[in-house]
Amino acid sequence: MLTGPASGDGGPTEADWAAAVAAVRGLSAEARVLLICHVNPDGDALGSMLGFGLGLRRLGVRRLQATFPGPPELPESLRWLPGADLLVPAVEAYPDPDLVICFDAASESRLGELVDRLDTAGAALVLDHHASNTRFGGIHLVDPRAAATSVVAGELLARLDVPLDAEIAVGLYVALTTDTGSFRFEATTPAVHRLAARLLATGINPGDISRRVFDTRPFGAVQLFGEVLLRARLEPAAAAGHGLVWTYATLDDLARHDQRPYVLEALIDSVRCTAEADVACVLKQVAADEWAVSMRSKGAVDVSRVAVALDGGGHRFAAGFTGRGGAEEVVGRIRARLDEALTAH
Ligand code: AMP
Ligand code: MN
Ligand code: MN
Repeated sequence: MLTGPASGDGGPTEADWAAAVAAVRGLSAEARVLLICHVNPDGDALGSMLGFGLGLRRLGVRRLQATFPGPPELPESLRWLPGADLLVPAVEAYPDPDLVICFDAASESRLGELVDRLDTAGAALVLDHHASNTRFGGIHLVDPRAAATSVVAGELLARLDVPLDAEIAVGLYVALTTDTGSFRFEATTPAVHRLAARLLATGINPGDISRRVFDTRPFGAVQLFGEVLLRARLEPAAAAGHGLVWTYATLDDLARHDQRPYVLEALIDSVRCTAEADVACVLKQVAADEWAVSMRSKGAVDVSRVAVALDGGGHRFAAGFTGRGGAEEVVGRIRARLDEALTAH
């Protein structure tokens, strides 16, 4: 088994696993299966979905689509993943699939316009690892102890007797490295390395994968990062003295450097290394008065509490929400919530 014991600490029970296995095994030859991952897919969302999708294909599922809400656009860093041929634009997704499977989405809102499939599908299976998961859908494989949704997906593939091959492994590995910060974060448990070992044993090339996913960006993005980092603000007194560092990137910044919004996903990693702040925030403008907010913590603050209080979600040390109003206004709301989100030490 790839995850720990099955009950008592919030992970899936044996009954949950059995229900998930039965839902897949019970599919007829003609069954339509729709895979959905969260809006603005990251490496875990997309990698888990496509890796699992390839596993379903190996099981003989022929009518199979993978999709995500919003425009059918992916960052270059993820476009090359094996199984990308399963992807269809959200508007073309089966309106009433026999089975819908959701990946890495903590709440229905993360499914955007595809949320209706939870009602129209014959059954809805949810694979996730957010402690803030709202338990939407019918069958829950939600394991807050799992470092990535791909740990759950890998376990389900094992229980379905699908052998790992290199194509499946690439997606699951991208997912695992994305959510563990390339095996640097606290979530990097022995189970993570055991799964990584099994994935690497299929012959995949970790150097090549990491370069493509994490270490490649257009020169325009490098310059954009420079500008946005220069305007970062440090507030040492925030979060009861644990410190806050934050910056923002506007649509105009993107336009001036001829960059797409997804290049900004890596920005938080350059901001969160600030020694003087426990909490780091990046506000990414998505419309005139709307921001996709990323938050990270080094441990003193549980940023998922801030995010959930502001109608978002995430994990203790990595969370996000949609902020409305001016950038200062949104940061003001974060600042006001930081003190109450201090973790007990
Ligand atoms: P990000 O900062 O986008 O990398 O997201 C960090 C974590 O917060 C991920 O686990 C996301 O699933 C979660 N998250 C980010 N934005 C939102 C949102 N608007 N609603 C719910 N969860 C979010
Ligand atoms: Mn994700
Ligand atoms: Mn994840």
